[in-house]
Amino acid sequence: MAKVYLMTGTNRGEVEKLMQEAARMIGEQVGEILRMSKVWYTEPWGFKQGNIFLNQALEVRTELTPEQVLDEVQKIELELGRNRTEEAEIKRENGEHYASRTMDIDIILYEDMVVESDRLKIPHPLMQEREFVLGPMCELVADMVHPVYGVTLAGLREKLADKTEEAAGER
Ligand code: AMP
Repeated sequence: MAKVYLMTGTNRGEVEKLMQEAARMIGEQVGEILRMSKVWYTEPWGFKQGNIFLNQALEVRTELTPEQVLDEVQKIELELGRNRTEEAEIKRENGEHYASRTMDIDIILYEDMVVESDRLKIPHPLMQEREFVLGPMCELVADMVHPVYGVTLAGLREKLADKTEEAAGER
């Protein structure tokens, strides 16, 4: 048995229902959900189309390997994101690289394992740069030490806040 931390996110469709569906399917296909953060609401960046993002961190007890967890979360993404034609249309219309997503599920941490393959990187390589990941994760495991940086998640979050403040000061 291992503990894995997943992050669900959506900004399209019936967002609240999608978050509930994703959690239900994770409970069935990945393992028992032990705890969940609250749902975080974040303004999007990187593309103009302005739907609010919803994000949530989940602590899951699983018997699956990290690769098997990825297989399952990708199945759930597909299952919940069937409206691919609509996504392609939106990309074409606004000519932007980023399109809104129906459901995105990332593996943030798996015990204190470090995985570096073509298909899978754990800890999630961008987690330390994203308040919408660190915020929900800190609700669950603020004291957990990041297996690569050797800093607690609360520490990483503080560093990110300092960096963001500095950047704002330079503007
Ligand atoms: P994205 O389009 O951002 O959802 O990225 C999806 C791709 O990232 C998939 O093809 C995965 O194989 C890869 N990936 C690498 N590391 C992770 C991770 N920790 N969690 C989820 N997907 C990952």
